[in-house]
Amino acid sequence: MSFKHKKKFGQNFLTDQREVLRKIMEVSDVKAEDTVLEIGPGEGALTALLLDTAKRVVTVEIDRDLEKILRKKFDSNPKYTLVMNDVLETNLKDYVGEGTKVVANIPYYITSPIINKLIENRDVIDEIYIMVQKEVAERICAKKGKERSVLTLAVEYFGEAEYLFTIPKEFFTPIPKVDSAFMSIKLYKNERYSKIVDEDCFFKYVKAAFANKRKNLLNNFTALGKSKDELREILAQANIAETERAENLSIDDFLNLIAIFEKK
Ligand code: SAM
Repeated sequence: MSFKHKKKFGQNFLTDQREVLRKIMEVSDVKAEDTVLEIGPGEGALTALLLDTAKRVVTVEIDRDLEKILRKKFDSNPKYTLVMNDVLETNLKDYVGEGTKVVANIPYYITSPIINKLIENRDVIDEIYIMVQKEVAERICAKKGKERSVLTLAVEYFGEAEYLFTIPKEFFTPIPKVDSAFMSIKLYKNERYSKIVDEDCFFKYVKAAFANKRKNLLNNFTALGKSKDELREILAQANIAETERAENLSIDDFLNLIAIFEKK
């Protein structure tokens, strides 16, 4: 009997899509010495290829109905560990150590919580290669313009994101509503930005700047409790027009602006 896909777990499997799987393996560049963490192995299409190359593969799967299938396929392989749990409830450091690479076709209904969790574990996770909804990948990887959001900056603060390739929705079973994309986030090991501005401070300003996407920076920043005249002076000092919108600021523009705010 074939597996019955569950919508509530975001189950859209890559079945027999050798070309896509080959491309995933190529861009994620899994090496013989790598420990790989895969979130949501499904029926194990990607897992099998990861096991061919990596030193260890740890998969975290929530759906008990997939346990038997996965155990039957991979349990005899000493490189393989299956964790049956909600990834968001899992202490990743119980299973993987420093230098871990994440390669996964993640469940889309929890894309942001998963990315946040992986970033929080950046002391053990070096690189993230994930499949997400195309539109989400475009938002995270946008360098300028309307697609930028708090999520874009949240990723940029901790690492370098790259849009790798698009996967049409027809490649999945069942066929989802939207296309997907494969993207990477290489996490900074040198606290590139966090050593300049601490996390709370950075996000206070970024969230304020994006609070209302239709408003310009001057109007959004009034929520920080400064007068418009003070704000005009700060923006002028940062060489940013008061009519500018948050989406057109790079992370470096933000850091510069925050430094001026904090001096006041
Ligand atoms: N990797 C497989 C593939 O490409 O064919 C399946 C990907 S499917 C988009 C997402 C997988 O994540 C499913 O196997 C689903 O059961 C699992 N999943 C959903 N929510 C989860 C959670 N909170 N923790 C761990 N796995 C989860």
